[in-house]
Amino acid sequence: MSTPLSIEQMRISGQLPSPKGVALAIMELARRDDVNLNDIVKVVRNDPSLAGRMLRAANAANQGHRPVVAIPEALHRLGMVAVRQLATNFSLADQDHEGPCQAFDYAAYWSHSLLMAVAMRELGRQTGIVDPEELFACGLLARIGCLAVATLYPEIFADLLRQHDGKTRLTDLERAALNTDHNELTAIILADYGIPASLAAPIAHHENPEDSGFAENSRSDTLCHLFYQARRMADLGIAPQTERHVILTKLMLLAGKSGLDRDNLGEMFDHIVAQWREWAEILQVPASPLPSFAAMAETPPATAEPDDVAQQLRVLLVEDDPSTLLMLETYLADILGHAVHTARDGKEALTRALEVSPQIVVTDWLMPVMDGIEFVRTLRATEWGQTMYVIMLTSVETEDEIVQAFEAGVDDYVTKPVNSRALRARMHAAMHYVTLLDNWGRNRAQLKQFAAELAISNRKLEHYALTDQLTALNNRRAGMNFLAQAWGSASRSGLPLAVMMIDIDHFKDINDSHGHEAGDQVLREIAACIKRSSRKDDFVCRIGGEEFLVICQNAELKSTFQAAERLRHIMRDLEIEVATCRVKITISIGVAVREASLPDEASLIRAADNALYAAKQAGRDRTCLSNGGKLRCTSGHPID
Ligand code: GH3
Ligand code: MG
Ligand code: MG
Ligand code: MG
Repeated sequence: MSTPLSIEQMRISGQLPSPKGVALAIMELARRDDVNLNDIVKVVRNDPSLAGRMLRAANAANQGHRPVVAIPEALHRLGMVAVRQLATNFSLADQDHEGPCQAFDYAAYWSHSLLMAVAMRELGRQTGIVDPEELFACGLLARIGCLAVATLYPEIFADLLRQHDGKTRLTDLERAALNTDHNELTAIILADYGIPASLAAPIAHHENPEDSGFAENSRSDTLCHLFYQARRMADLGIAPQTERHVILTKLMLLAGKSGLDRDNLGEMFDHIVAQWREWAEILQVPASPLPSFAAMAETPPATAEPDDVAQQLRVLLVEDDPSTLLMLETYLADILGHAVHTARDGKEALTRALEVSPQIVVTDWLMPVMDGIEFVRTLRATEWGQTMYVIMLTSVETEDEIVQAFEAGVDDYVTKPVNSRALRARMHAAMHYVTLLDNWGRNRAQLKQFAAELAISNRKLEHYALTDQLTALNNRRAGMNFLAQAWGSASRSGLPLAVMMIDIDHFKDINDSHGHEAGDQVLREIAACIKRSSRKDDFVCRIGGEEFLVICQNAELKSTFQAAERLRHIMRDLEIEVATCRVKITISIGVAVREASLPDEASLIRAADNALYAAKQAGRDRTCLSNGGKLRCTSGHPID
């Protein structure tokens, strides 16, 4: 075979794309305490390109030894830190990438690769021919050459895909136009990833085992047929209903050859599909529900209703209330016939919107985590969220609120409880808009950029969502998240956990005498002072107006009390310059520690709050501690 493209050229012309957000998911996972490498393995496994790169990295670090072919082994050799760094670098490299090929269905590609990987592992288990884990990786990478062609020659490949009518092989079209084909690229890339030729060669020939030239019943021949079988299973998983029957028949013929009867094949296939859908859920790769193998075999070959297909739009439905969600989903999908994707809050909806690129978004207003208004605003701030038609569900209908919704970027609204006639009318307008938009022609080649934008905006959002704007300390939400985690790990380890609740005394007077801006300045200085004075491992947050919470992990009551008293003194000595004068403040502190009588973290906060209240009652400028339900206060300055 001639090799028109060296692997170097491929590298130079652009890295192979990674699916959206996978590197990000790894980074987030790696940050968590309760995550180990096995969790990361699950994520990496589902990105063929990233999995391949990880293998290459592990093999590069492993010269002279048996090549690493299984992803768990590769990641364990590399270690958590390296895995995380590599994933980040790869994802950054990807962002410089050219836009993807317009006619190549990326979502279907990932979905298909994942199903092929799961099928290969299962077939590997049945036959015992190669380690099933290795076969999982190989299944995932079996069509990586298609991704490479789409990346390297997006326009030409788009033309080829349009020409491809099933009569001519795609590889023949590729050869004529490009002097190479996706199977050849697959072989080159697999070699580059360090996959041994004994596996890479059967993969490169799996589309047409009869042409492989492998000796009949040789190991390569058997493997090649297994890949072929897994490929057909993956085809069945993503085929439209009208094409299922043909593939199903082929699979039954294949199974006959390998000695599986129809029932065994059916059971195995259903098991594979169940695993595929679990994995797809984790990685948010599409994996539509499939009838059981038996049911598909029983259904007569179907014909599509062209009108229905033409009408079908991708709709993202966002609603936190499960029964409303179910009702609307049923209406939009079953009655109106749209492809409906769902999310439970605005943040999840952003990720889903990127995944499925909906044409219409129907979103609730009031939701936890991120409400509808914030979601729409964020959506509209991205380039890819401009053209979606957004319908807001609202229980309020005052003019101000409607104006607020339109300002955020909503196109239309429906009042709750939703009346189906009203929704149908809005959907009609939305469909009209989508048709116009399609005619005008959207630029779908920017998918890649969307992913980068979302990753950045998600990170920004996360930062803003967890940071107090005035003092730059962690905010209440961040504090409560941290406390929940700290409580969990203290429960597991038995190590002590203490909190200090701090409130500025007579802070209102500062606002009253020096103005609100001076008040803000004082808050900033005090925040900085608390942060400076606490231990490195203490978690400091602004929990409310002039109240702060310090979470002290691995700290006993006594040492926390001493730290609180030290802080109280530092505050007494602090002089804060505002506008024309210097002000002095004092603080009151409530201290509580995790003890048997407190069932959860909320009760710990309540105990500290009660102690703070007692400190205020006792005259302010003092620390009060809660110990076994009893409260003890210092008698104010000087320390007693
Ligand atoms: P106490 O000793 O009982 O805590 O008295 P206090 O005046 O500090 O408490 P109170 O709860 O009555 O008042 C708190 C004040 O804090 C009222 C509010 O105006 C002010 N405040 C809350 N957040 C901010 C803010 O972000 N900036 C400014 N400048 N003031 C704030
Ligand atoms: Mg709601
Ligand atoms: Mg207060
Ligand atoms: Mg106060």
